Amino acid sequence: MNPLETPSFPSRLPQVETTIFTIMSALAAKHEAINLGQGFPDFPCDRKLIAEVNAAMLADRNQYPPMIGIAELRNGISQKIKNLYGHHYDADADITITAGGTQGILTAVLACVSPGDEVIIIEPAYDSYRPSIALAGGKTISVSLNVVRDEIGQVASYQIPWDALANAINPKTRLIIINTPHNPTGMVWDKADLDRLANLVRNTSALILSDEVYEHMVYDGAQHHSVASHPELAARSFLISSFGKTYHVTGWKVGYVAAPPALTKEFRKVHQFNVFTVNTPMQYGLASYLSDAEHYLNLPAFYQAKRDFFRAGLSQTKFKLLPTPGTYFQCVDYSSLNIPQSKLSEVDFCKWLTTEVGVAAIPVSAFYEQITESGVIRFCFAKQDQTLTNALQRLQTL
Ligand code: PMP
Repeated sequence: MNPLETPSFPSRLPQVETTIFTIMSALAAKHEAINLGQGFPDFPCDRKLIAEVNAAMLADRNQYPPMIGIAELRNGISQKIKNLYGHHYDADADITITAGGTQGILTAVLACVSPGDEVIIIEPAYDSYRPSIALAGGKTISVSLNVVRDEIGQVASYQIPWDALANAINPKTRLIIINTPHNPTGMVWDKADLDRLANLVRNTSALILSDEVYEHMVYDGAQHHSVASHPELAARSFLISSFGKTYHVTGWKVGYVAAPPALTKEFRKVHQFNVFTVNTPMQYGLASYLSDAEHYLNLPAFYQAKRDFFRAGLSQTKFKLLPTPGTYFQCVDYSSLNIPQSKLSEVDFCKWLTTEVGVAAIPVSAFYEQITESGVIRFCFAKQDQTLTNALQRLQTL
């Protein structure tokens, strides 16, 4: 063997390739398209939040924080969850600060899934779930949201596939991953959905991972229904959230996991040797900012205005709009466009839209393992009004 050659080894994630988000963002940059693909705001966060982080740095809060996160931030989270969802998570025993939602998800999966265990996900699904399960040696069992179509065959909405979910649960089911509000479809679970899930898992040993990173983006006066609001589910759930989404700081990668002590104990064993701690000044800045509830209570109105503005503009096009009760994503069915491109696959349609129309979007088919074409693409409306206006002008030419 050539001693200068890197030895080969079997990939732990042979299926994983460059994600569609990276591909579409690169294409958008190359063609100077308006990027409504990847989900991040193009407007700044509150200067006050930055000032709080700066103040923490200048106060020399720059060394390792406690492994589980600083007490001020964990206390603030405990208080917030109690106020909003009525459940008490003990700040010391139940709450851990993570490096964003993604680390929380991976760590929770590694903490409870053993080789051979089954983990149920509901597709279309956020792209980190599958690789997390694979790294734990678990087996992904996917069920798909039911696609509801209107009288002319266009996608109208999505429904939770209760029968498929019930059939998928068996003694090997270690974990069920749910996501509400849901990326990419924007659908939200209601109280009856949580009750139904609780009924399904009642006499099983299945745990739940509830990805609620969009918890503060629910519209039209509706409430977010967290697993924390459901005592039976809370007793078996990892609740995941992220400050990146709530405070327009996706690049900071700070989030948290709330879970009962037995789950948190195992979670922290993995967390400790995964990241150990999450950066200190961000935690102090976020703790101080979180103490003013207005900062998250104002979020639904802020994003609802953007959603309504974007939907009003899209209603001038031939795209069929899907409902958006939550998240900062708007899905549309493009099969209604009277152009030859309306017959393209979702990936090809998105590539064409980026290169020829100048607006980048994400194909919903990318959120399924087996390509599932439904003629639906996802736009992100977490953008300045001017960005949305410019994108709408281009889309209205279709
Ligand atoms: N879950 C979902 C459904 C998401 O959309 C995202 C972010 N795109 C995350 C988790 C990860 O959040 P973070 O950036 O805090 O890791």
